[in-house]
Amino acid sequence: MVVVLKNEATQEQLDNLIGWLEEQKVLVHISKGEYHTILGLVGNTTAIDTDLIEGLEIVESVKRISEPFKNANRKFHPEDSVIDCSGIKIGGGNFAIIAGPCSVESEAQVLEIATKVKASGASMLRGGAFKPRTSPYDFQGLRAEGIELLLEAKKETGMPIVTEIMSAHHLPLFENVDVIQVGARNMQNFELLKELGRTSKPILLKRGLANTLKELLMSAEYIMAGGNENIILCERGIRTFETYTRNTLDLSAVPMLKELSHLPVVIDPSHASGIARLVKPMALAAAAAGADGLMIEVHNDPQHALCDGPQSLTPEQFDDVAKRVFAIRKTISELD
Ligand code: PEP
Ligand code: MN
Repeated sequence: MVVVLKNEATQEQLDNLIGWLEEQKVLVHISKGEYHTILGLVGNTTAIDTDLIEGLEIVESVKRISEPFKNANRKFHPEDSVIDCSGIKIGGGNFAIIAGPCSVESEAQVLEIATKVKASGASMLRGGAFKPRTSPYDFQGLRAEGIELLLEAKKETGMPIVTEIMSAHHLPLFENVDVIQVGARNMQNFELLKELGRTSKPILLKRGLANTLKELLMSAEYIMAGGNENIILCERGIRTFETYTRNTLDLSAVPMLKELSHLPVVIDPSHASGIARLVKPMALAAAAAGADGLMIEVHNDPQHALCDGPQSLTPEQFDDVAKRVFAIRKTISELD
């Protein structure tokens, strides 16, 4: 349920109303916007008499929210959320490119890629330390050592780092990681999501291979229900009957998610297509569609990459993509 307050409501009246609502055993989420203060009620609101609230002097309107996601719902929080990733902002007009290798392989590899993608305009460095591989015989990532190498690259370049968590047991290793990624395969690992809800770190939540947007938002809701509202949604392609591409990029996820939710939306054209030459057109389309950011895999030697070489751009190719992405954003902002 959402309660929209009149502008002239005093703090005392607001406190009284919140106190009364909390006595009705619902959690009250306050969103103070430029024009209105909105109270979002989470919990069992069925016993709450909407007419009674609507009749209060300070209340402008009351709406029941039919969607099962509440904290992630734009009706709860009409303005875009801006997520602060150790100084790099994303959402609400702030655009960020996250770039780096699929997996961290060595100090020289990650440092070279980090330096080059930064020079091309990337603002965060990605790199997998714990890798969710389909085969147990494939490279599983450098694990704790991989995180150490990312932290070195962060020290060297000043770029915040983004890396994937696969088990809540590894959380202590992520203490200095700036953004924790939940990969597609773990989007519905609810116990992991609950643990992440108890942290305050930004979470990049990727859409599952075969999950709906509603399910993605419900996974965001799991994290938010625990108190962590720093979520970035990521569309990375879904499984369809198409086989020429690794996945099918669902670009309509950008406007749809932004309509349904206030959370920023990032597109990962690398996993979405699986083919390096498709990354550029998909990245440009995502920027034009209004994505709040991109996550792009870049490798200094894609042919010898230990993971996802075929979809990785060289630093030179990334430079070209980044230039064009920024140009598209500039052109569109000039039309607004
Ligand atoms: C990744 O970003 O390295 C990754 C494994 O992506 P996804 O979870 O989208 O497959
Ligand atoms: Mn990858």
